[in-house]
Amino acid sequence: MDTTNARFDTRAIHAGQEFDPTTGAVIPPVYLTSTYVQDGIGGLRGGYEYSRGGNPTRTALETQLAALEGGAHGLSFASGLAAEDALLRTVLVPGDHVVIGNDVYGGTHRLIRKIFGAWGIRHTTVDTSDLGAVRDAIELGATKVLWVETPSNPLMKISDIAALAELGTEAGVLVVVDNTFASPALQQPLALGADVVVHSTTKYLGGHSDIIGGGLVFAEGLDELAERVTFTQFAAGAVSSPFDAFLTTRGIKTLGIRMQRHSQNALAIARRLEEHAGIEHVYYPGLESHPGHELAGRQMSGFGGMISIALSGGGEAARRFAESTEVFQLAESLGGVESLVNYPAEMTHASVRGTEAEVPESVVRLSVGIEDVDDLLDDIDRALERL
Ligand SMILES: *Cc1c(COP(=O)(O)O)cnc(C)c1O
Repeated sequence: MDTTNARFDTRAIHAGQEFDPTTGAVIPPVYLTSTYVQDGIGGLRGGYEYSRGGNPTRTALETQLAALEGGAHGLSFASGLAAEDALLRTVLVPGDHVVIGNDVYGGTHRLIRKIFGAWGIRHTTVDTSDLGAVRDAIELGATKVLWVETPSNPLMKISDIAALAELGTEAGVLVVVDNTFASPALQQPLALGADVVVHSTTKYLGGHSDIIGGGLVFAEGLDELAERVTFTQFAAGAVSSPFDAFLTTRGIKTLGIRMQRHSQNALAIARRLEEHAGIEHVYYPGLESHPGHELAGRQMSGFGGMISIALSGGGEAARRFAESTEVFQLAESLGGVESLVNYPAEMTHASVRGTEAEVPESVVRLSVGIEDVDDLLDDIDRALERL
């Protein structure tokens, strides 16, 4: 069906998901094929030649991604970092400069610092929730990319996408928003003026902790950039496999209701944590005490499932808490239906120790799943009693 004018949940289920015309199968087949028979040399059926360049299952996901973010083009990759790499490699040349948030995913910081740094790309790390700091960090002419993650990881800072997009446009800087934490169900960066949205589809979009994947979506009017990154995707080759693309597509169909439940459960847990003496601080944009609460209320339609806490007892208490929960399993990653607990300083953010993006030792991050909220609250209470 044509989903151009359909609402979000309808687009999530139908965009790119036409039934199979030969059999009527409601779910399009998973095209587990590397290559395509040609009707004579150059006689392609449907434009497919070799699956690094294109595969119908990947096309189904890329169409769905673009529709969810309200963009003109979507691209799917083997991981979130592969998506980031393809974008940055396409737009940057040695000597260029990148402005990046000081509380972004550790792997993004590492990619820009270690891989791109070695190729002569400079970067400045700033608090992107501080517009003045971002303005000061931009080197007119040299800065090519402003990299924003909101809510940020793991401290849940909220940055003003519309204001940053305006700043980027004035300075001729490509504004990229990593929308992994909010997902397009809760936040639409392109509608707020961002140029490109990045996803680790491993997280909420896939939603079931069973794939690694990444995506890019380009705003209307950036056809030429989208075409160049599509070439990088083909020529450098970090594409998603058909089966991973299928699982991601399947996960996305329930994104809307999952995000509602993640948000409800997280708010209940954040409120409970806020009352406890062993907790020094709760970082959750849904709490009135959060400095970005009002902004988040404007630019998001829900506050999401991620919470970080700082424990009064410091690093030792944080480690004990992270090792005490049972329903919340100790693991990296986030965004699945099951709840996870993570100790950033030594797990997800170990790679940024000693840098400007270092995470305090007292911080624990929770990815609140969609289990029954009372079981989650009981689990948190029990872990707090053990502090
Ligand atoms: C996980 C994550 C990434 C990296 O994605 P991978 O799929 O692990 O490569 C990027 N940004 C954010 C916010 C993430 O959580």
